[in-house]
Amino acid sequence: MENKLDGNAAGGVLQAIFPFDMTLVQATCTGCGTTNVIGATAVYIHGMGTVVRCPSCDTALIRVARAKGRYWLDMRGVRVLQISVEA
Ligand SMILES: [Zn+2]
Repeated sequence: MENKLDGNAAGGVLQAIFPFDMTLVQATCTGCGTTNVIGATAVYIHGMGTVVRCPSCDTALIRVARAKGRYWLDMRGVRVLQISVEA
């Protein structure tokens, strides 16, 4: 069972890990090379955690799980993250 949501739904859990607004960060997909802001990706939330997928090719860009008092972050689907430092 999983719920498909837009990328902004991942903002909450990612905000707990990263000190900037991850919904505004641009991620380049390792699968197809497309660059999207995280807020415009497809997010699946299920019992094991959150999966952010590329809207073009469905590659899992970011997987986040919280278990045993830790966040587990798998970002193998991201080739490049672009993080704006402008206010
Ligand atoms: Zn892709």
